[in-house]
Amino acid sequence: MTMSALGEPCVLLKLGEVVLKGNNRELFEQRLQANIKAALKDFDFKVDVRQRHGVIALFLPDGTTPEVADAVAERVAYVPGLVWIHRAWRVEKDPGAVTKAAIELLADRDDVRRGVSFAVRSRRRDKRFPLTSMEIDRSVGGELNDIYGLPVDLKNPELVVSIEVDRDEVFVFTGGTPGQGGLPVGTSGRGLVLMSGGIDSPVAAYRMMRRGLRVDFLHFSGIPFTTSESIYKAYALVRALDRFQGRSRLWVVPFGKAQQSIKASGQDRLAVISQRRLMLKTAEEVARRLRAGALITGDSLGQVSSQTLQNITAQDDAVDLPILRPLIGLDKTEIMAEARRIGTLEISELPDEDCCTLLAPRRAETAAKIADLRQIEKRLDAEELAVQLAGSLQEYKLEG
Ligand code: ATP
Ligand code: MG
Repeated sequence: MTMSALGEPCVLLKLGEVVLKGNNRELFEQRLQANIKAALKDFDFKVDVRQRHGVIALFLPDGTTPEVADAVAERVAYVPGLVWIHRAWRVEKDPGAVTKAAIELLADRDDVRRGVSFAVRSRRRDKRFPLTSMEIDRSVGGELNDIYGLPVDLKNPELVVSIEVDRDEVFVFTGGTPGQGGLPVGTSGRGLVLMSGGIDSPVAAYRMMRRGLRVDFLHFSGIPFTTSESIYKAYALVRALDRFQGRSRLWVVPFGKAQQSIKASGQDRLAVISQRRLMLKTAEEVARRLRAGALITGDSLGQVSSQTLQNITAQDDAVDLPILRPLIGLDKTEIMAEARRIGTLEISELPDEDCCTLLAPRRAETAAKIADLRQIEKRLDAEELAVQLAGSLQEYKLEG
């Protein structure tokens, strides 16, 4: 019970593409609800997740403070499948109570004291409510105008007071935070991300999680010829990305010795693309064990010499699984902006000793011939090597 006219603090979530699903919509909704619950497991109380028509409401235990409700809203904003997150108030289903709540909502606000323009926007998901949405807009808007003297601006209001009439209650709120969009993690299957310590692969991982893939992370370290720094970096990146899916797993393959063999095979200009193919073959073997149906990389067309069209073709040739490259058409500046937004850029920019620097040829081939690469792989016995490398896999568990 709260004494305030605002009612109970809660969180209202608007669904994205999930609402476009026909017959299997329910499966998508169930997955989304499970993902929301999992994301909120660190709170020491139970959040009641209620599916409504096109929205999800999160009800909190009696006596939950607005600050805690804010924290719940902040946490759930990472969950893919949601387009808007609103910190709302749950008000009794009665026109008088709604007006009172709206008045209370605008009390003690600096922008209201400044005299912002405003509009009331209502929606009736339950048509049994005695007022139509237009009537609610008008009557609540009129009251707010009388009390606070704010100018109404229906086209471009600085402040929107939202009122949503639902089955058992009315939600009242201002503003909101955009969600991640996309589909609930797990509705598209599983993928394995080839995760360097760089800027691109974490963004690629994010993009695919947002399309509903649950991903595992695979990092190749230069160990024993480099330090473990790149592993710590990959670990930190996975932790940051874990907010979007939960239960993330980082797998590390010590790759230094295999790189030495590639180097020793003498084909300097083909070394980079050879090693990329060996990474992919190893990843394919790991994916088989993890039951992942696709590999994911951070390639962007033309960004570096290993990402020319010919070299990408040569990479696809190395494996049977599809290689998903969500960043293929993005500019570096766009990728960096997204990395900043999802919180991975700072980590990626830390210095490290990437395993790739072990094989920096004077001039890398930009149009590798598949026949030449296969020749090298024959000498290396690459298929066997990939199985061995996959066998040396180590899991790094995320604590907590
Ligand atoms: P990134 O910023 O993701 O490192 P990049 O621009 O540095 O990308 P490359 O180094 O050519 O590009 O790597 C291309 C892709 O190959 C990476 O996005 C990643 O998916 C994969 N990759 C590269 N190095 C590693 C590694 N050490 N472990 C796992 N995957 C890697
Ligand atoms: Mg890199």
